[in-house]
Amino acid sequence: MIARLNAPISFLFTRYLSRPGLTRARFLQHQERALGKWLHRAVPKVPAFADAPAHLSMLPVMDKAQLMANFAQYNSQGITADQVRRALKSGDQIGALTVGASTGTSGNQGLFVISDAERFRWLGSILAKTMADLLWHKQRVAILLPRGTGLYDSANQIQRLQLRFFDVTRGPDAWRAELETFDPTVIVAAPKVLRAMAEEKFSLRPLRVFSAAETLDPLDRPVIEAAFGRGLGQIYMATEGLFGVTCRHGRLHLAEDSVHFEFESVGDGLVTPLISSFRRETQILARYRMNDLLRLDPEPCSCGTPLQAVTEIVGRMDDCFHLHGASGPQMLTPDVLRNAVVMADHRITDFRVVQTGPAAVELALPADLPPDAGLAARHGLQSLLDARGLHAKIALTYGPLPLDVSRKLRRVEYRAPSGKP
Ligand SMILES: [Zn+2]
Repeated sequence: MIARLNAPISFLFTRYLSRPGLTRARFLQHQERALGKWLHRAVPKVPAFADAPAHLSMLPVMDKAQLMANFAQYNSQGITADQVRRALKSGDQIGALTVGASTGTSGNQGLFVISDAERFRWLGSILAKTMADLLWHKQRVAILLPRGTGLYDSANQIQRLQLRFFDVTRGPDAWRAELETFDPTVIVAAPKVLRAMAEEKFSLRPLRVFSAAETLDPLDRPVIEAAFGRGLGQIYMATEGLFGVTCRHGRLHLAEDSVHFEFESVGDGLVTPLISSFRRETQILARYRMNDLLRLDPEPCSCGTPLQAVTEIVGRMDDCFHLHGASGPQMLTPDVLRNAVVMADHRITDFRVVQTGPAAVELALPADLPPDAGLAARHGLQSLLDARGLHAKIALTYGPLPLDVSRKLRRVEYRAPSGKP
């Protein structure tokens, strides 16, 4: 019962800290205080940081490989990654703690462990950011995400919410009728699932639609927005936590009320975040390097919140291409590759570009795309490589690009066995 109180407290706290009119300077004072307390009290309680200085800038940077190799060192209960995996076979609890996993392949699967209090705090925060203004009435929320945990179940203990999960490991035909009967007011799904619902003309009339779990490609946004008649919001979250939500003015804001962000520049105006989750105490993520590539928005948002706005999440570092040219190796980010393809011809509404070898790129296009559009796309990619002095052979193929519910959709993907500088 006490744990549950964290939801309304966190809800109000999140609203308070992201409220319009709170200046950035005042907000940062709040954040610094919370961060300082966490560094003194919570961080040293896990073995990995037992002797660490209580200053953020003096802590080492950590990443997923480190966390997964030494999982027990980063949580206060000494729970190992194997214990989490074993627990996930029969549920999602270890004692009073909730555990979960990302849906990635076992090689790079992420795991987490959180307490009941933290679970409800997360819930309060996400509700405050996504639907605070809707909660005057009971909402029917449809979650169409791969389920690695019972994390969301806590939401069904909130009176104003009726939550229903749909098994997206099966294709849309398996759950279409049930979803339409449920008639959700809020829908949360991966962009590829939203797009499939849009193209299949599902009979739905949600008040709010959020994309989550995968990078939202600008190609999918207009299709989804037109079908649902609503602006498409984003929930930026991962196994590591909740990192951002789109505001009512349509801009994505970082969840700086619970996460401290530092940024590492990777060129082309893009950054990767180092996150410190200063409201989590069971598992410590401090200066944890995320794999995401963000373009920060220098302009404040008209919604008035002090939280940093993000123009776009352009993809993941893993998906960057690594090609060689006369001036040595170069990295190409997914947004640059995507733009080279889609800006070549307006008829291109879907594609895949994969680096398959140190100097080999595959471009796959829908079977029904007119050949001149396909050639324009290949020319667009070739021009990009030429402009940067890079060498690669581009193989163009046409075929079906079906909805694959078993893996994350990445239109731009790096799959070369070697070649990274
Ligand atoms: Zn805003």
